[in-house]
Amino acid sequence: MVVDRGGMTAPAGRALGGGSLTREQLYAAPVRLPRPALLAAELDAHPRTRDAAAVLGIHTIGDLLEHVPAGHEFRATKAIAQLKAGDEATIEADVRSITVRQTRRRNFRIVEALVADPSGSVKAVWFNQAYLVSQLPAGTRLRLFGKVKSGTFQVREHSVLGKSGAIVDSEAPAGGIIAVYPGTEGLKSQRLRELVAERRGLELNVVEPLPGRLRAAERLLDRPSALAEMHFPRGRRFAQEARERLAFEELLMQQIALGMRRRRRAGGRPATELPARETIVASWRKRLPFALTADQLNAIEQIDADLTGGQPMQRLLMGEVGSGKTVVALAAMLRAAENGCQAALMAPTETLAEQHFATLDAMLPEVPLALLTGSTPAARRREILARLASGELPLIVGTHALIEPTVQFRVLALAVVDEQHRFGVRQRAALDEKAPAGRVPHVLHMTATPIPRTLALTGYGDLDFTLIKQLPGGRRPVQTRVVADLQRAAAYDEVREQLRGGRQAYVVCPLVEDSDELQARAATSEAERLAAGEFKDFRVGLIHGQMAAAAKTAAMRAFSEGETDVLVATSVVEVGIDVPNATVMIIEDAERYGISQLHQLRGRIGRGEHESVCMLFGFPAARRLRAVANERDGFKLAQIDLELRGSGEELGTRQSGLPRFRVAVLPEDTPLLERARRCASRLLSGDPQMSAPEHELLREAVTARYGDEIDPIPA
Ligand code: ADP
Ligand code: MG
Repeated sequence: MVVDRGGMTAPAGRALGGGSLTREQLYAAPVRLPRPALLAAELDAHPRTRDAAAVLGIHTIGDLLEHVPAGHEFRATKAIAQLKAGDEATIEADVRSITVRQTRRRNFRIVEALVADPSGSVKAVWFNQAYLVSQLPAGTRLRLFGKVKSGTFQVREHSVLGKSGAIVDSEAPAGGIIAVYPGTEGLKSQRLRELVAERRGLELNVVEPLPGRLRAAERLLDRPSALAEMHFPRGRRFAQEARERLAFEELLMQQIALGMRRRRRAGGRPATELPARETIVASWRKRLPFALTADQLNAIEQIDADLTGGQPMQRLLMGEVGSGKTVVALAAMLRAAENGCQAALMAPTETLAEQHFATLDAMLPEVPLALLTGSTPAARRREILARLASGELPLIVGTHALIEPTVQFRVLALAVVDEQHRFGVRQRAALDEKAPAGRVPHVLHMTATPIPRTLALTGYGDLDFTLIKQLPGGRRPVQTRVVADLQRAAAYDEVREQLRGGRQAYVVCPLVEDSDELQARAATSEAERLAAGEFKDFRVGLIHGQMAAAAKTAAMRAFSEGETDVLVATSVVEVGIDVPNATVMIIEDAERYGISQLHQLRGRIGRGEHESVCMLFGFPAARRLRAVANERDGFKLAQIDLELRGSGEELGTRQSGLPRFRVAVLPEDTPLLERARRCASRLLSGDPQMSAPEHELLREAVTARYGDEIDPIPA
């Protein structure tokens, strides 16, 4: 290959022609080995440029080269005669004359130049850059990029090619495909492109962290070439290949970090082996009042396989509310009891803990179970703690109260964590420490929030997944409609019809972001409005997040016992209510809710024998609302949500919980992410500590990015 970048030239004809070189010729060949040290040098530029660069995190030449373009732009070069109004194009033209004009607005000056190419001429315009008049005298040859507007060519970027008629400098971007850089005030994309171009060739000194074997297997460009093609693409396909290589590397490093974190989590400590003993669990299953669904059976089987071994389980059990996760968790907890060990289920709120306790209690064989929360009376609490410490109490359900230092288990072998994303790392670690010294518990995480695949792979990449998709028999799909303003009256008619038939309804108030208080107030006034208006013939209840715990419990109980017909609620009903007789849900201002939230909310109905309907009050054309109305699969909805929100805008990404990368873009790069995950797990299973010499550079790169945290398990 002919290399011609910044002085790296090879004897072209020979190398290409295949004729062999003599020993002398080889010695004389200007071959250069990479010199990474060159990249550590400070960026040599004007102090003002350096200050602006520092804002972008660019201090050294290496930083500059790693400041990869956010994208590439194709810029058609046109003859002036071809330009049409609204065109964005590059032209190459000579300055014929140039002046600066004062406008009526003070301090606002316009530079106007008549520029010409062989096909014609046009007036080029720059705003507020009066100094250009002296920099671009008549006779200067320019490449201009800009937009045709009001008969003039409004210049966005210009570069000087030389004097009129001069041969175009081949190093300047040829007006085809060019790199577009994330810039800042004082250091815009064009200037960055120039800074990089001035240092062209230095990218060959960049270190390649990926082992050759992996690169060959994955058909990846080497790193220096990838950077070269990112900065100076020879064409769209090259740029794409380069981007893919760099994105893959980022995703791979993240997956390796996650994989190592997982291996490190236990600090090498084993979990207690919990083999099937065919005592408690088997007889419990026989006595269950219903048949387990295929998904539940599959989940239990996977968990059993995990529990049988000493390798600590880290499994995420996903399934919508009511899909029967708690039953699966109970099967696992009983497995611990069967082995003479203990199991704990931790929920993020008291309401949820109480609900789990009730569900478990209803299905439980003769195995002691207790509930421990912040409101457990002191005497009862003392008793529970004593029984946990002695091992007399095998199963416990609770809140954060479970991880307080005073709580001691005799042998905690399994921890079930509900809605795990609502607990911090430290809280989960505290639970780990409740196991006997030298061991960690198996952990089963549960979530009713459908996690799209992309997120599962990144945020939760260190977990195994089990999915429950089927709802147990008896649950009916909820019919969902978007109701426009004009149809509100008819919708209330329909609700009253249902209420007269003995059913119950939820009215969910608009989400008020960041203010529980405002939201509570809105719910209160909506309840009053409905009680005096649309639902004046019915009993209207109210529940919101600002109410005292006892008042909330009372409101829920009144609704579930049929003492109220309509429950006006804030999004607190999202969790913790199971009223099969409730068949209608109105969601006010539905656009304010996210797709997943809407889906969660409607999961509160359709839990009994009657048809249920969810009415989304809102704008029927809203894509999110249409998606919820048309799609019942929570996982598909979660992926749609992710796609609709896109990853381009920062807010969307932050909300989606997807990690941000410099090159990779999620969810678009999900296929690449899948590849990286497979690759990382192959690599780690062959070399768990990444200690092989060919993995050293990669390990260093991962450590540099993700910190020492990922240090391998001490042997
Ligand atoms: P989740 O925890 O996923 O929200 P639960 O385990 O609490 O769901 O189950 C919801 C309800 O459905 C419970 O009352 C439970 O007893 C019942 N249930 C669970 N599995 C089945 C099944 N296979 N068939 C019928 N009912 C079931
Ligand atoms: Mg449940």
